[in-house]
Amino acid sequence: MRSVFVPWSVALGESERLLDDLSRYTKVDGIELLDFSSQIEKASYGSAQRPASRVLPSSKRLGLDLPIVKREDFKAAQKFMSDATSRGFKITCNFVPLWLGTEKLRESSLVDVTDRHLEGPGDFPVYGCPNDPDMRRYGEFMMREFVKSWPDMEIMALNHLEYPHILLWAYPAVDLESMFVCFCKSCEDAALEHGLDLERMKNEAKLLLATMGRGAPAGRKGAPPAVNADDVVNFFLRRPRLAEWLNFRMRSMSDYARSLIKAGREVAREYNPKLRFGMEFQLPSLSPLLGTDFLDLSFDLDLMIPKFPDYLPGSVAPLFAQEVAARSGLDKDALLRMIREAFDLGPGPKEYSPYLPYGELRHILLYSNAFDHSIVARQIKYLKSMVGKVPIQPYIWESNNDKESLRKKIEALASAGFDDFFLWSWEEGITTDHLRALKGIL
Ligand SMILES: [Zn+2]
Repeated sequence: MRSVFVPWSVALGESERLLDDLSRYTKVDGIELLDFSSQIEKASYGSAQRPASRVLPSSKRLGLDLPIVKREDFKAAQKFMSDATSRGFKITCNFVPLWLGTEKLRESSLVDVTDRHLEGPGDFPVYGCPNDPDMRRYGEFMMREFVKSWPDMEIMALNHLEYPHILLWAYPAVDLESMFVCFCKSCEDAALEHGLDLERMKNEAKLLLATMGRGAPAGRKGAPPAVNADDVVNFFLRRPRLAEWLNFRMRSMSDYARSLIKAGREVAREYNPKLRFGMEFQLPSLSPLLGTDFLDLSFDLDLMIPKFPDYLPGSVAPLFAQEVAARSGLDKDALLRMIREAFDLGPGPKEYSPYLPYGELRHILLYSNAFDHSIVARQIKYLKSMVGKVPIQPYIWESNNDKESLRKKIEALASAGFDDFFLWSWEEGITTDHLRALKGIL
């Protein structure tokens, strides 16, 4: 299956046109829809006009605040899915249970090393903690309701079961502290049950941040200190509590994921027995650091969806390098090369070209040529133990209508043995003109 992401504005506003174009110009036979209606579909990560709303018919039996779309919009969504299915398209639900469009559950948000409650992107005031009991109830409720009320869905794809890196949403600010989560009361309790002292782990995290901040005096001249991947590994080896803490995060996220998958499978037996449960996860080399134990979870799932996003080499890595360099006095370019090496992003370009922005996409991608197509081949080794055991369908992006880069990505996937993929390309990527231009590529 080749699946494209379709924003609700297009699904509900131009459904006939879209389905005609996809059939006429492409080999696409899958459509991915978000489980919510949100401004982030238009890459808008600024302050919210209104809360993001779930595409569900009702939230009554939950007993917690859960904004949902208008009744007529829900009906229209169901009709679109049914029309698309009858024309041979397979529907995937991109389900993001940890982002909540309600102000009323702020206490359930992740708490970072500076004791802040974290927000999700744009119109999601909450980025929930997987150990929070309300979050679990919320997630299981939504999972059951989606399985029941999206009968045409073929794949339920859990997404963003990870701790955040808020480097894009906060742009141009870079918020390193937000990467050190979660230290909430529920996490404290869960850690105790495993015999772990979260407070000591928090101190290690603070120490790590302080070490980064012990930078060279401003204006220091001379050769930049050399940094390589071994330095980073050694850093963690000397701080075993950080490794323990990273494991605790993974375990917390896996427990949460399993509770949702279990809830979904129970309901699917009655409502949608053919439904497959999948998971979209961050770049394989990076996922464990963000709390996603995709290898372990693959035993519970029917489809694994590793992401190969342009924004990782194109924005996140450069912003991270820039911030760490500013705090530590290390050389920015050396750091970026080291990060690319440590996470197997491929060496990247000699010169980074600034992205030619349109609209608000500038918040997503800083450089247009940072994606190294060798990344697919490099990442396969992290997936190896899953290969042949569970279907794997990678996720790629098309940015700035760059069809040549898309062609190379699809070729790279094909040579790694992946003919099926998911594609994210915003509205600009699924206009008639652009789909026509992609004939023979997509
Ligand atoms: Zn927590």
